[in-house]
Amino acid sequence: MPLVRYRKVVILGYRSVGKTSLAHQFVEGEFVEGYDPTVENTYSKIVTLGKDEFHLHLVDTAGQDEYSILPYSFIIGVHGYVLVYSVTSLHSFQVIESLYQKLHEGHGKTRVPVVLVGNKADLSPEREVQAVEGKKLAESWGATFMESSARENQVLGLKTRRVVVIAVFSLLYCLVV
Ligand code: GDP
Repeated sequence: MPLVRYRKVVILGYRSVGKTSLAHQFVEGEFVEGYDPTVENTYSKIVTLGKDEFHLHLVDTAGQDEYSILPYSFIIGVHGYVLVYSVTSLHSFQVIESLYQKLHEGHGKTRVPVVLVGNKADLSPEREVQAVEGKKLAESWGATFMESSARENQVLGLKTRRVVVIAVFSLLYCLVV
């Protein structure tokens, strides 16, 4: 019998960094151009990893900035976070640093399971944040880091489709087991 685990994961980050695109890629396996700005959306998906079944409740949020106050629903009962910035926006990276501090405090300064994601890696000519900076920040939290492209996942074709996005979430599960 597989072990069934319930996991609530919240996606946070500045607006327009690709939170909805990543969530949608993961759940539906496709990239949709030009979403309306998200209010808040939740997705449910069952993912099997090895012998275990994860009932994932994924919360895609409206987007935060450095002045946002995180509601209790983003703290209580949440198993882990995907913190997303865009590699084309230094500001979105700075916002992530302040969001992490708020989460850390919200969780009583205990370790917060986080995957830090630098999205829009396909837009390298417009890059404002180097991979090494993301890696360094994630290391300072003891978190996992990766760059992704919600768009490229579709363009790369069937074989590699969704690989990056799945990697993000798989790693997160490992962290929150
Ligand atoms: P959110 O506000 O953080 O949820 O961001 P969205 O998912 O709505 O994406 C904002 C815009 O960025 C949309 O026009 C997307 O098509 C675009 N976008 C999202 N992810 C990527 C990506 O990986 N690469 C590129 N080039 N564009 C992306």
